[in-house]
Amino acid sequence: YPPHIALIGAGIAGLSCATALQRAGLEVSLFDKSRSPGGRMSTRRGDDWQCDHGAQYFTARHPAFRAEVERWQQAGVAGVWAPRLSMFDGDSPEEREPTVERFVGMPTMTAPARYLASTLAVHARTNIQQFRPQAHGWQVFSAEQGWLETRFAAVLLAVPSPQAVPLLQQAAPDLAALASSAVMRGCWALMLRFAAPVDLPFDAAFVNRGPLRWLARNSSKPGRSGEETWLLHACADWSEAHLEEDSESVAVALLSAFGQLGGPAPQEWTVHRWRYADTEPALHEGCAWRPDIGLGLCGDWLNGGKVEGAWRSGRTLAEQVLQSFARC
Ligand code: FAD
Repeated sequence: YPPHIALIGAGIAGLSCATALQRAGLEVSLFDKSRSPGGRMSTRRGDDWQCDHGAQYFTARHPAFRAEVERWQQAGVAGVWAPRLSMFDGDSPEEREPTVERFVGMPTMTAPARYLASTLAVHARTNIQQFRPQAHGWQVFSAEQGWLETRFAAVLLAVPSPQAVPLLQQAAPDLAALASSAVMRGCWALMLRFAAPVDLPFDAAFVNRGPLRWLARNSSKPGRSGEETWLLHACADWSEAHLEEDSESVAVALLSAFGQLGGPAPQEWTVHRWRYADTEPALHEGCAWRPDIGLGLCGDWLNGGKVEGAWRSGRTLAEQVLQSFARC
């Protein structure tokens, strides 16, 4: 039998790791506590609207990730987004020439994750709360099913660092300490719906003042349909300072900041709080793998942050796991 691997977290890091392991002949069970894969590459949907409220776009600098994004483009699940871009240092927007190529999932940011997950055994709505070493490998415990029967040859975590720490404390205090060293920050997101296209001279803007850091006309991304939607992200300092505030007052503050930048009042809005959005500073370990006990970590926080870093972290972990099993 091929080694059976438990992978916890079906964000882009977990998916990239799982697809590489499966392709090499290992059996992989991928667990995620959410309803569907994608993690922070995510899209909120309503009756006649949709809005990416986590990752906004991704870059592809490394040749391996560029090749992967090309495969996604050929499959129709990613495309180039070329927004009219501005920057707010003061009250008025200054146009910015794009310096990087920006990619997005198509028709939503979740599409690449769904595409990767389609060939994998994904156990959604399964919250893994602990795991323990047994005579014949690891056993994992989910909130929904208790201790699972399967004995796994390795357990790989692809979850944000603060969510990895409690899982690791018993099994590998050294990996728990590594995860504790990566501090992640929150981000408030506000999704706005409008009856008609908003008359602003940009599709996306970086904001360097007040509570906001990013505005984007979601409807300007390729393949989008439905009502005109915009996405506002608050900056990390403001989000952290207001993380426990009620969503209504957060929305009022962010709408007021949008108004000061020339944005009109929306018909409707929806708020989302990301408790763990990004790591500052991110680590540059690539991944972490303990071949002696069969325990590994991957994720954006181990590899510079961002979608590209997360994908590459998952790939690097898969390579290290495969090398270890090849030696056995
Ligand atoms: P995640 O996507 O967080 O995946 C982790 C998965 O683990 C989740 O699906 C979660 O449900 C699951 N999980 C956690 N604990 C458990 C458990 N105990 N049991 C089971 N499942 C569990 N990146 C960019 O490149 N460009 C951007 O513009 C950008 N903007 C961003 C804006 C915001 C607001 C946010 C939140 C992120 C942004 N990012 C951006 C970062 C990008 O989204 C991440 O770097 C990347 O998606 C992380 O992937 P990951 O697989 O490491 O983690």
